[in-house]
Amino acid sequence: MKNISIIGATGSIGTQTLEVIRSDIHKYKLIAVTANKSYEKMIHIIDEFNPEIAVLTDEMAYKNLCSYFKDKSIKTEIKFGMEALNEAASNKDADIVVTSIVGMIGLMPTISAIRAGKDIALANKETLVVGGEIVKEEAKKYGVKILPVDSEHGAIFQCLQGNDHKAVKNILLTASGGPFRGKTEEELKNVTVKEALNHPNWSMGSKITIDSATLMNKGLEVIEAHWLFDMPFKNIKAIVHPQSIIHSMVEYKDGSIISQMAVPDMKLPIQYALNYPERCEAVIEPLDFFSIPSLQFEKPDLDTFKCLKFAYEAGEAGGIMPTVLNAANEYAVDLFLKEKISFNKIHEIIYDALNSFENKCIKDVNTIIEENKKVINYLKNKYNK
Ligand code: NDP
Ligand code: MG
Repeated sequence: MKNISIIGATGSIGTQTLEVIRSDIHKYKLIAVTANKSYEKMIHIIDEFNPEIAVLTDEMAYKNLCSYFKDKSIKTEIKFGMEALNEAASNKDADIVVTSIVGMIGLMPTISAIRAGKDIALANKETLVVGGEIVKEEAKKYGVKILPVDSEHGAIFQCLQGNDHKAVKNILLTASGGPFRGKTEEELKNVTVKEALNHPNWSMGSKITIDSATLMNKGLEVIEAHWLFDMPFKNIKAIVHPQSIIHSMVEYKDGSIISQMAVPDMKLPIQYALNYPERCEAVIEPLDFFSIPSLQFEKPDLDTFKCLKFAYEAGEAGGIMPTVLNAANEYAVDLFLKEKISFNKIHEIIYDALNSFENKCIKDVNTIIEENKKVINYLKNKYNK
């Protein structure tokens, strides 16, 4: 039996993790779940899985959840707030914690889980972007595994199995290119939120879907790959592959390139992370090669999709620059989703932030939290939104 906690259980990755659990209820047991506002989804999760603890961070949603279960006898303890969220992440009965919360807010629960000795199935890429060095140190100190859930990193992780790490020449990170592949900056001027949310291959939460449209998602993944696989940035190459069949590749020094392929379905990397090194029966549809017209590859257009370029630069600079990049991106994407700024303004805001903050070393988690706050305050004052 694998005991699993899910931080961000009501979102896209959280829901797909529940599907994996549902696929073999004798193999997995749900221990702790958290969300922000989605109390109705939480009701269904509690009814179906009987976890030990369920946490909501929105007070109103918490009250609604409590009132629904008021006269019902359940074994689930319902709690509220950030402290409770960290408590859920470090619940003693879990073997592995799926971090599927969105944004840098996932950093503290991830660290709490590591300090409690839990392996991490990491979906929340922002955690490694802002705190890669700290998370790695803590994982080493507490002897826990960081198992990637992001499909590209799950693929790279698989391509590395059984091979000598020193023989790796490049990591080839594939990108679908998002809904605006091939468009010019001029053509992107008036694109709507609805168009940006219309991802060609993946159904995901709104923040990551916008990140995919700007290619910031690939930028965040470059930094994530740097920390997960100890690779210099110059050896992490992004390749646009619109079909999303090859989920990423590893190029070895002898010229061999190993790729991992499957239909685009996050349940596979989730299942692999939960069960590593075991391979289980498929929870996804098989790949039918004869139904794929072709596999294409293109260079990413860094002049139009500037966010990817900014991410490489911030990653190379290190220190707090990835935190500045991430904070500005979270702020700008939120404004875009609320239809307060245009699509191209996202990269302008990020550029502004990156050029307004001096780099400095990260001493500890507090440096990250403080710098994140400073960037958000700076942008709030400037853009008055
Ligand atoms: P969603 O937006 O679908 O879900 C986010 C989850 O986090 C929800 O459970 C949500 O709760 C919770 N949450 C959001 N804000 C807060 C908050 N302030 N406090 C507490 N909980 C909060 O996101 P995704 O599942 O798409 O993505 C999650 C992470 O995984 C992201 O970092 C993303 O980049 C990464 N990822 C996602 C992939 C995908 O296919 N979706 C693929 C690879 C990586 P509520 O429902 O109440 O709002
Ligand atoms: Mg990905």
